[in-house]
Amino acid sequence: MQNRVYVLDASAIIGGFYSKKTMNFTTSDVTSEIKDLKSKIMLQSAIEDGHIEIQDPDSEGVEKLGKVLRESGDILRLSDVDKNIIALAVTLKNKGFNPTLVTDDYSMQNVLKIIGMPYRSVLTEGIKEIVGWVKICKGCKKKYPPEYKFDECEICGTRVIRKRVKKNR
Ligand SMILES: [Zn+2]
Repeated sequence: MQNRVYVLDASAIIGGFYSKKTMNFTTSDVTSEIKDLKSKIMLQSAIEDGHIEIQDPDSEGVEKLGKVLRESGDILRLSDVDKNIIALAVTLKNKGFNPTLVTDDYSMQNVLKIIGMPYRSVLTEGIKEIVGWVKICKGCKKKYPPEYKFDECEICGTRVIRKRVKKNR
């Protein structure tokens, strides 16, 4: 898809999601929601490397979203931070981008469904972009490919578990 960009909410950033192939955006109030040090460092370096850009929604995007939310009634309760990140996606769409919002928040996903904004969650499909799986022995730490069929390590016999690994880093 042309002009594809990702819009990241706090759950995406904390989950370590961002794409190196396309531009990623987030809002300034999302970045101030990031409290844990590891995510802060990840975010800071992604900003410095030019992978994540901080932008805030324009008034047109905010109004357009506000209208939808008012029409949908009281069911859709969102925080201001959530509203802003969706409004940023609307703003980017108005500018000719094809934004996909990355969030694990169920009520946000509901709103995105209603306004027809593509989204993906961090922990399911999103993870394919940056994360792969290996199997690793809990005992001797030998790594096996994800398709390794046995429950036990061929060397020491300890249980083999599935583990997330980062790709392209
Ligand atoms: Zn082992």
